Amino acid sequence: MIIDGKKLSEKICAQVRAEAEMMRRRPCLAAVLVGEDPASQIYVRNKERDCAKCGIDSRRYDLPDTVPEAELLAIIDELNNDDAVDGILVQLPLPEHISERKVINAVSPEKDVDAFHPINVGRMVTGEGTLMPCTPAGIMAMLREYGISPDGKHCVIVGRSNIVGRPMGLMLLNADATVTYCHRHTKDLAAMTRQADILIVAAGSPRLITGDMVKDGVVVIDVAMNRDPETGKFFGDVCFDEVEKKASFITPVPGGVGPMTRAQLMKNILAAAKERALKNG
Ligand code: ADP
Repeated sequence: MIIDGKKLSEKICAQVRAEAEMMRRRPCLAAVLVGEDPASQIYVRNKERDCAKCGIDSRRYDLPDTVPEAELLAIIDELNNDDAVDGILVQLPLPEHISERKVINAVSPEKDVDAFHPINVGRMVTGEGTLMPCTPAGIMAMLREYGISPDGKHCVIVGRSNIVGRPMGLMLLNADATVTYCHRHTKDLAAMTRQADILIVAAGSPRLITGDMVKDGVVVIDVAMNRDPETGKFFGDVCFDEVEKKASFITPVPGGVGPMTRAQLMKNILAAAKERALKNG
């Protein structure tokens, strides 16, 4: 069965919209884009469109790639203190002369809708988070929707990045799975992936997972978005044709994890707005 991330993301978006419309003030996202990287421009534009669809206001700050770090930090500080702003998103990557860590740490945790701030990472680890990292939280929602419980399952994760693999494993652990992390130093990747009841692949390595590397009935979640430079088409880390034959559930690329990540961002903006409304009365 092919998991339809697009359809589920539309359902989530409609739910967010219904809740946003009930609020006294529309939730508001401030998106900061530094430089002119074409991929980043597309991402930010998509996020603005998603906001509009979900009844969320958005503001956009376009800064030149020469902007001094101190100036960017000053803008973040201003947004932290702006009562009309519920969520702050700084599109990564940033130019070399700016420390991403410093910028991430400067965003107020209550407005950190990417959930990259160490306080939100810590809360996610201990299972008390409200703002959750978008890609893994979107995947958890997808598993729930399709009635796939991680409880007692062996979940194998390929990739340990801070934004995808690592938090994914912790969220699955909090959902009572047995978790194995694989990464570049893993000696025998196929021996690991063959054990997976649920296999989550976020390596950014095209055709990494072939049919012989999975067992029958496996659930496969392909997080990667690899772009073919010639055709411009997107494809994942999983050889879909081969693995689909053995999988009980599998996500397509595109149309799987991508739209779920975007939907989770909308959920986070709404959650941040609701928390702030509660706190500020
Ligand atoms: P993403 O943003 O999709 O999480 P990153 O590029 O940040 O991707 O990280 C890629 C991750 O995938 C790293 O943790 C790396 O160790 C892992 N990885 C990449 N190639 C392989 C491979 N051939 N086998 C196992 N793990 C890999």
